Amino acid sequence: MENGIKRKMGLQRLRLIIGGAVQGVGFRPFVYALARLCKLSGFVGNESGGVFVEIEGKQADLQNFLRRLREDAPPLSHITEIKIEEIKIQNDKTFRIVESESRADENTLVSPDVGVCKDCLRELFDPLDRRFRHPFINCTNCGTRFTIIKDIPYDRPNTTMSQFEMCKFCRSEYENPSDRRFHAQPNACKNCGAKLWLVGRNGKQIYDEDAILATQKVLSENGIVAVKGIGGFHLVCDARNDAALRILRERKGRSDKPFAVMCRDSATAKSLVAINRAELKLLDCKERPIVLLRKSRMRKFPN
Ligand SMILES: [Zn+2]
Ligand SMILES: [Zn+2]
Repeated sequence: MENGIKRKMGLQRLRLIIGGAVQGVGFRPFVYALARLCKLSGFVGNESGGVFVEIEGKQADLQNFLRRLREDAPPLSHITEIKIEEIKIQNDKTFRIVESESRADENTLVSPDVGVCKDCLRELFDPLDRRFRHPFINCTNCGTRFTIIKDIPYDRPNTTMSQFEMCKFCRSEYENPSDRRFHAQPNACKNCGAKLWLVGRNGKQIYDEDAILATQKVLSENGIVAVKGIGGFHLVCDARNDAALRILRERKGRSDKPFAVMCRDSATAKSLVAINRAELKLLDCKERPIVLLRKSRMRKFPN
């Protein structure tokens, strides 16, 4: 410990710089809740190099905080280093989440995009939920990250979401440290966020749920739809429909090479292809990658 630091009633103050994938993964609300649980005062914020924390309290409480910081860190976070220094006590009374600090010379890890979580899926299909069938649903534990980031630190003004002003309901979630969407940067709903639309052959635009229903109709009638995704356009047709597949193969000039097949979930996939335990784990992990699987012996798809 440094000399010359006054200790009042055994109080101590530490400044931490936490590096790694710690932005956009619920790290600040986690630190906020942990600091309060450990009876510490101070603050936490994002900076270009990661997350900075100042904590003040009794030594045993500080040690408890430091231990649990690593042990209980949020599932999507990945801590690569923690720099700790003792600083002068400030006699803060509370623990706060503060504004981000931007430093030109720093770098931080950015979380990749993450597949939709169970809580969001439940809301998505709940007719009483205000995000019922909202195609861009997300929370601190899931959704886009890397795709929407323009600069660090990872805060709303540095993302492509900066152009969408949150409605009062979304803002209250965003500002509530105990909410699952606290500082979830892509947070929005169908009233204040991005819109989904379908453009038909007639050039007519159809919005929101109608766009999805209209897409289903096109697919059920041998149609092909180009879905704009994060990496370009994705051509979609009904994989069980011989006629639609033939048209897609012709247009793509892909006479026999396999296409990727989208399934609702791994249970549906199991009815179509052979899946071993390792493959199943991959299919269901939060990254939701494309997994190469063997066809079942029973012929379920057209060629
Ligand atoms: Zn979620
Ligand atoms: Zn909203």
